[in-house]
Amino acid sequence: MPVISFENVTKVYPLPAGDVVALAGVDLAIEKGEFVLIMGPSGSGKSTLLNIMGSLDVPTSGEVTIAEKRIGGMDDDDLTLLRRDHIGFVFQQFNLIPLLSIVENVEYPLILKGRQNGTRERAEEVLQAVGIEKTHFTHKPGEISGGQQQRVAIARALVNDPAFLLCDEPTGNLDSKTGTAIMTLLDRMNREEGKTVVMVTHDPRMTEYADRTIRLVDGRIA
Ligand code: ADP
Ligand code: ADP
Repeated sequence: MPVISFENVTKVYPLPAGDVVALAGVDLAIEKGEFVLIMGPSGSGKSTLLNIMGSLDVPTSGEVTIAEKRIGGMDDDDLTLLRRDHIGFVFQQFNLIPLLSIVENVEYPLILKGRQNGTRERAEEVLQAVGIEKTHFTHKPGEISGGQQQRVAIARALVNDPAFLLCDEPTGNLDSKTGTAIMTLLDRMNREEGKTVVMVTHDPRMTEYADRTIRLVDGRIA
């Protein structure tokens, strides 16, 4: 059973000037343990695809299965739970909560999920796994570098042990050396921990890390 599957997925945005077809009959299956890139020109449907994979949006037609659950017929609450329990998000802008410490940021998804015990220990364990030093745990995100912040964001994405990581240009805000370090970390999580990684990127150099690249053109897989 794939971690993510799309069958004949279409997404249409109705606009006064006419419908915009963002995805047109997309079929794909991402298997557990794969590292998949999604590439394509601006406007080709990458964000729409990512939003549907992340259960932030639903298709106009077609069948989508995420973490063995069909999203057809789910309401917003179901989608939120699906997202919270099974998907780890990594963004270009890190999106850490500035007023929380590093360790609190990573602990937060566990608390949202209602875990009462061992949240601090689990957060510290994952922070160590992504290479954040103990002395930084009580710092605020603004007090550490961008590369360190992205490591923390990856720890936060991993803390609930999600079915897959969904990464939107995770190195887009980093210099190339730091970006390489982040890719090396994601690669390690994929190879050593068996984490499924799906990443949207514009950077053709990232293909060396991936098992497979899905290319979108005009809402279709090329
Ligand atoms: P990409 O991420 O590859 O740039 P998008 O998925 O953002 O592509 O966009 C695909 C197409 O759908 C584009 O023509 C875009 O203008 C359109 N689109 C995306 N989001 C919306 C929206 N919320 N409302 C209307 N049109 C949209
Ligand atoms: P962009 O691709 O325009 O730079 P982002 O990478 O910030 O946008 O976000 C990609 C998608 O994920 C958007 O649809 C956005 O609404 C959604 N998103 C952004 N931040 C979060 C968040 N913290 N939690 C859930 N969804 C988010």
